[in-house]
Parts: sequence; structure tokens; C-alpha cells
Amino acid sequence: MTKRVFNFYAGPATLPLPVLERARDEFLDFAGCGMSILEISHRSKEYDRVHHEAMELVRELMHLKDDRKVLWLQGGASTQFYQVPLNLQLPGKRMQYVNTGAWSKKAIKEAGFYGEVDVVASSEDSSFSYIPKDVEFSEDAAFAHITGNNTIYGTEWHYMPKVPDEVPLVSDMSSHLMDRVMDFNAFGVIYAGAQKNLGPAGVTLVVVREDLMDRVPENTPTMQKWITHAKKDSLFNTGPVFAIYMCKLSLEYLKETGGIPAMERLNREKAKLLYDVIDGSGGFYKGHVTDRDSRSLMNVTFNLPTPELEAKCVEEGKERDLIGLKGHRSVGGMRASIYNAMTLEGVKTLREFLIEFQDKNQ
Ligand SMILES: *Cc1c(COP(=O)(O)O)cnc(C)c1O
Repeated sequence: MTKRVFNFYAGPATLPLPVLERARDEFLDFAGCGMSILEISHRSKEYDRVHHEAMELVRELMHLKDDRKVLWLQGGASTQFYQVPLNLQLPGKRMQYVNTGAWSKKAIKEAGFYGEVDVVASSEDSSFSYIPKDVEFSEDAAFAHITGNNTIYGTEWHYMPKVPDEVPLVSDMSSHLMDRVMDFNAFGVIYAGAQKNLGPAGVTLVVVREDLMDRVPENTPTMQKWITHAKKDSLFNTGPVFAIYMCKLSLEYLKETGGIPAMERLNREKAKLLYDVIDGSGGFYKGHVTDRDSRSLMNVTFNLPTPELEAKCVEEGKERDLIGLKGHRSVGGMRASIYNAMTLEGVKTLREFLIEFQDKNQ
């Protein structure tokens, strides 16, 4: 048996074992063509099927309306930080953002290259330990932007901010895409680097409401326009075929295992197992997120009484095959990323370890 550890890294992150096994099994001879999927044309019928099935699975699982375009793009979520303002800007209108952490800040910075930006709310005053409440955007905004899940700090939006009808809401869902049921059609644009909750690195999923793609200025380079890719079903040029293929396998697996509703139940159960340990530890484990309604289902962030104990906990976790528990360098502490692909068994093993670690070290 190949050895597999429990991988709590924030991204690239763990993938479902059945998905990896299937990719392995069909690697050398894909769909009976005697070649791997890495070696065939992106215009071949074998690849074309994978490509369109992956898009259909996104539509189906997210219950997207017909006017939503599903795009497979490159450059990561970081490229969307500028492609969003580039494609959605409107002359004379301001772009409105909520600042809930490092990724929001990077998005805000890029928007600044295209026009005036308002930060309508921020949780920076308390080291991003909560999602601002009662956020509202104004009617004259070109668009409104949030970071749906804050990977580094461990906060997640669990409510929809108030957005005027004409203003499209944009969300960076890189680290929580499809983690729970939500009305995905309430968003004008959704984007997500695949390597956290969807598949491997190398592809970014972007979902755009069709009418919003007309806004882009005429003199924009072809590859930077969403509409270029939408018109060609993301086959304008050679795309990241292997990454899309892996996304397709993982979307299929999500569908087979009950889709987003079943995934939400599992994710809530997993997160509760860890937050209960934190809450029941009498302060030994201290969650970074002060507002319980803002706690992420995906990234559980916490501190121990000292940095020495944190280092020890990370080390001893490793010895138990619990890998990747060190917090992001900018906040320190510990972080368990428990994305869709993390199993209940993995979380239970981590939970037992944390309880035991407290007993031994308190
Ligand atoms: C990881 C991450 C990004 C950056 O994604 P890249 O694909 O590496 O550009 C952006 N936003 C969020 C919320 C992330 O977690």
C-alpha cells in the first residue's frame, strides 16, 4: 500500500484519493487513445469531452442559470485581481471592496490601477478576526467585491451583503468554492484558483454573468478579456488541459458523493469537531477568529499558549502523519485546512491528537 498522510496544507491542498487513483489508472492510455491526456491535442474529441463535461458539472452542481458563463483561465486567482476591475470598470464609477485580509488587500491594490476604489468595510482593526456586519454597497458602484473565505485568517462570509440590484457582486471563492449550498446566481462574478477546494494548481474557475462581459474597454489585449474566452468556451488557446481534467474528476466525485448539500453536511461536521476542541480547551487552544459567526468551515486557525508549544504541536503532529498544520507566516499559530477533500477520518485523527496534546502539555 502506498503511504498517504493527512494533508492539512492550505494550498495546493489534498485531493480525494479516488480521484488520484482514477487519474493514475487512466494515465498512460487515456480513453483508449494509447496516449496520456497530456500528449493529445486540446482540440481532440477525447479532450473536448473532458473540457465540456467539466463545465457542465460546474453548472449542474452550482445550479447556474443559462446566462452564466463558465470559464477555465490561467494565472491564478491573483490574475483575477486585475481582470475583475479591467473587465468590470465603468467610466466615472467607483469600485467597492471589503477588506477582510491579505487577499482582499491584493485585490484592492490591483483595482487601484483602473480607477477610484472605496473600501466600504474592513476588519483590519482587529487583525482580520471577523467578517464585518451589515455591509452595504452604494448604487453608483461599478461592482462590489468580497473575499468569500479568508484562507490566512480563517474567516468566512456566512451572510450576503446588501448590494443594490444593478451592482454586480464579485466574490473570490478560491478557498471555499462549493463548500456549502449558496445562491451562486446572486453573484455577478465568482472566481477561484482551483488548487484549494477544486483541483490542482494551474487553472482558475471564473463564472461570469453574460451581460457583464460587454463592459470591457475596446483597447484591452485579447487574452485579458473574459469575452474572448467565453466566446470560445475557454478553448481560444491551449488551456491547462491536465488541471481541467483533474477538476473534472473531482467534480464528478463531488456529484457521486451527494453534491454540495452532502458536502456541506460533512464540512459542518468536520469543522465542529475542531471548533469544539478549541472551545472546550479552557483557553489552551485559542481561536484566531473572535466572532463565532465568522468562523471558516475550511481553515481553522488557532494559537497555543506559546510559540514553543505551537512548534512542538506541529512537530508531533507530523510524527502522526498530520501534515501542514503551521499557520501562515503572516499570522503565526496553527491552521488546519479542512477543504472538501479532507476526510472525516483525517479530522477525527487531528482532533484526538489535539486533545491528547493538551493533556500532556498543559
Ligand atoms: C490562495 C488564494 C489566492 C491566490 O491564488 P493564486 O491562484 O495563487 O493566485 C487568492 N485568494 C484567496 C482567497 C486565496 O486563498
